[in-house]
Amino acid sequence: MEQIPKSETIALRNKLIGPSCQLFFKKDPLKIVRGQGQYLYDEKDNAYLDCINNVAHVGHCHPAVVKAGSEQMSILNTNNRFLHDNIVLCAERIVSTLPENLEVCFFVNSGSEANDLALRLAQIHTGRKDVITLEHAYHGHLTSLIDISHYKFNLPGGVGQKEHVYLAPCPDSYRGKYRDDEYAAEEIGSLYADDIRELCEDSEKLGNGVSAFIAESLLSCGGQVIPPTNYFSEVYDHVRKAGGVCIADEVQVGFGRVGKHWWAFQHYDVKPDIVTMGKPMGNGHPVACVVTTRAIAESFFNTGVEYFNTYGGNPVSCAIANAVFDTIEKDNLMERASVVGKYLFDSCQALASKHKFIGEVRGLGLFVGIDLVKDRDSREAYTECAKTVVQRMREEHILVSSDGPECNVIKFKPPMVFTKENVDKAVSVLDRVLTEVRHKEKLDAKIKSLQNLVPSILADHPTKGQSPVVRPSYKENIKSI
Ligand code: PMP
Repeated sequence: MEQIPKSETIALRNKLIGPSCQLFFKKDPLKIVRGQGQYLYDEKDNAYLDCINNVAHVGHCHPAVVKAGSEQMSILNTNNRFLHDNIVLCAERIVSTLPENLEVCFFVNSGSEANDLALRLAQIHTGRKDVITLEHAYHGHLTSLIDISHYKFNLPGGVGQKEHVYLAPCPDSYRGKYRDDEYAAEEIGSLYADDIRELCEDSEKLGNGVSAFIAESLLSCGGQVIPPTNYFSEVYDHVRKAGGVCIADEVQVGFGRVGKHWWAFQHYDVKPDIVTMGKPMGNGHPVACVVTTRAIAESFFNTGVEYFNTYGGNPVSCAIANAVFDTIEKDNLMERASVVGKYLFDSCQALASKHKFIGEVRGLGLFVGIDLVKDRDSREAYTECAKTVVQRMREEHILVSSDGPECNVIKFKPPMVFTKENVDKAVSVLDRVLTEVRHKEKLDAKIKSLQNLVPSILADHPTKGQSPVVRPSYKENIKSI
């Protein structure tokens, strides 16, 4: 399936593709030519266990999804200005998984398009512009979303914080502003929610009032953060009292990944005014959706400006999304996310008793994060260790990534077909890599103490005038560990 040699692919990419386009493992990128289930295969047919691809939700190239897409493609694909059954059946399906207030769908092509439309709906409905967003959040690549994505606008070369954007602290009880070594869980939730109340007041005083609060229901780019249980209900109260609407971004964490619910916000027992969904919805095919209340949809309609999206909700996209829903149900994948997710969480937790670098393991269903620290008391992030883990696990053909404000959190968000055997494999390699890091730290400390000895040895042998030499074989050994 490889059409040109890897070296040529790299050369063409360097020449023709924008240099800012992200690439995993930049120095030695992977060339992936096919995928199946939870595995990706390179051009030499080496298999890699995929622990991070939450887009290939029901497994790479699931036959039922492929069949649904290719069959519909051979019959018809056109825009949704004609009546078609696939879009209405898909909408019916989506709405049946949501609270009763969420009953109107707009189909789009990506998570970014979904969030952009969500902001537009909120701003039209409230007649206001200000948006409250969370630190370290990412909501998409469109200009409107870079503006509310601290993860991007805050970079040294980023656009900075715009006037209509109000930034709230990430509700992280491990390394955020309010921590579990100082406050009880419920207190933490209320304190973080109070910060949002204050921002609503600021927006009233300084801006034109809050239109929307937007947040992921579990924060992925923020470092696999699971907000305290009472956080969203208190935040939603504050935002609604201030006249704003609440948007739940389920682009990464939706479609049953949390196991017990279809949507991660349901874990918090709240009812958003707008929900956005994407990535897993098409299992790799670009299809996404915004679901909102009748009242918000009416406000949009009342502007008199019609909405049209060439590809959004086309028959092929909706056939694929329907097949994803079918597969989640038929293959019992929510149940699997619960069981395998818990097994993954417990296995990582067991590693924590062995490796002092594991500061915290957190997770819900098949969404798990391991926060690596230099020291458990100070909770100082151990970014270099996370880098080593990602690189060494890739060498062992296991794909994980790191994220969070200090890039020290190892992320697991695998396709939902992940098995307990896959967990055993990934965790045993992680165990080995963390052991290597510990040994290297010990050796580094020994070398340092030897180096510190040099001046005193020289002082003891002033007439020889030569420094003691560390034997090359010893040096080589150290390097190779
Ligand atoms: N919201 C969240 C939480 C995301 O993680 C992403 C993509 N990583 C988006 C929105 C944007 O989705 P897309 O890349 O499909 O435009």
